[in-house]
Amino acid sequence: MESWDLIIIGAGAAGLAAGIYGARSGLKTLVLEGKMAGGTTVDAPLVENYPGFQSISGVELAQKMAVHCRSTGVTIREFEKVLSLDLKGEKKIVKTNKTTYEAKAVIIASGSHYREVGVPGEKEFRGRGVSYCGICDGPLFKDKRVIVVGGGNSAIMTTLYMAELASEAKIAHRREAFRAEEALVRALEAKKNVEVLWNTEVKEIRGEKLVNKVIIFNKKTGETKELLVDGVFVQIGEAPNSQLAKEAGVEVDEDGYIIVDIRQRTSTAGVYAAGDVTNHPVKQVGTAVGQGITAALEAYGYIRRPYYYKQ
Ligand SMILES: Cc1cc2nc3c(=O)[nH]c(=O)nc-3n(C[C@H](O)[C@H](O)[C@H](O)COP(=O)(O)OP(=O)(O)OC[C@H]3O[C@@H](n4cnc5c(N)ncnc54)[C@H](O)[C@@H]3O)c2cc1C
Repeated sequence: MESWDLIIIGAGAAGLAAGIYGARSGLKTLVLEGKMAGGTTVDAPLVENYPGFQSISGVELAQKMAVHCRSTGVTIREFEKVLSLDLKGEKKIVKTNKTTYEAKAVIIASGSHYREVGVPGEKEFRGRGVSYCGICDGPLFKDKRVIVVGGGNSAIMTTLYMAELASEAKIAHRREAFRAEEALVRALEAKKNVEVLWNTEVKEIRGEKLVNKVIIFNKKTGETKELLVDGVFVQIGEAPNSQLAKEAGVEVDEDGYIIVDIRQRTSTAGVYAAGDVTNHPVKQVGTAVGQGITAALEAYGYIRRPYYYKQ
């Protein structure tokens, strides 16, 4: 079995920052990534709030982070998905789709995924009219009819964005009021080409090769009807990729986010978490980087026990 000082799960902003600090601390560091290195940052067309880069595409920023990480001596293995974890003992066992590793410490930086509405047709038409990222897929729906599902900030931002591109933009919210920043709600109200469907649930997504309609249900009137649309943007939040950690006994909060303390320690000794998978209230590139750094330096302290390290 291959043996490492530190194994990091996920090569997004948090995992890559952790990798840099792990390797530069002298730890033999492995990053395991189920897809390509870069994480969710690649979904951002432009990042304009990460210090040092006034405006940079998410893809370019993510690539720069991966190149930087590798240059410090970190091994990044892409398309190697972690399937299970055994974290209880002193040796942490990490099983992937390719092999099994052991490590002295583990950092979980596995990010989050978009929540699904869970209706018939959603999985079938994913990528064929069903999208979870307005900024990524919006241009595909230029001059088409779209419906956004949700009532929070991201749903409103997506609707505002789509109102500029689509021929018709609707937003279906299952309640009677939005749960979003007031400035966004005001901006939405000012849009003439947006229709808000209150108390409305999307019950089914239909189509042939591509989406062509949704079935909606009004909870207040009890009315069910068909709506012709080309695109459905599901914007009902994210859920953490914490299932493996949870199964391995790491404590998570009621929404499944890994509970960490200010030093990124989880409930299991030698196991740290960083970035969007944690219960940290802010989910941004900058915060993910900061948490990744802290997690790696804590893992270093745990493994090497320098004189200044406090348990
Ligand atoms: C459309 C969009 C725009 C955004 N714009 C901005 C912005 O402008 N500025 C900003 O600061 N933030 C922005 N964000 C948020 C930012 O992208 C995230 O907060 C940040 O990328 C989180 O980094 P992370 O490392 O925690 O997780 P991620 O970047 O999601 O990385 C997690 C990685 O773990 C991998 N992984 C998961 N499970 C496993 C497994 N079992 N085995 C192996 N690998 C696994 C995933 O494949 C993924 O690569 C945006 C997000 C989106 C979706």
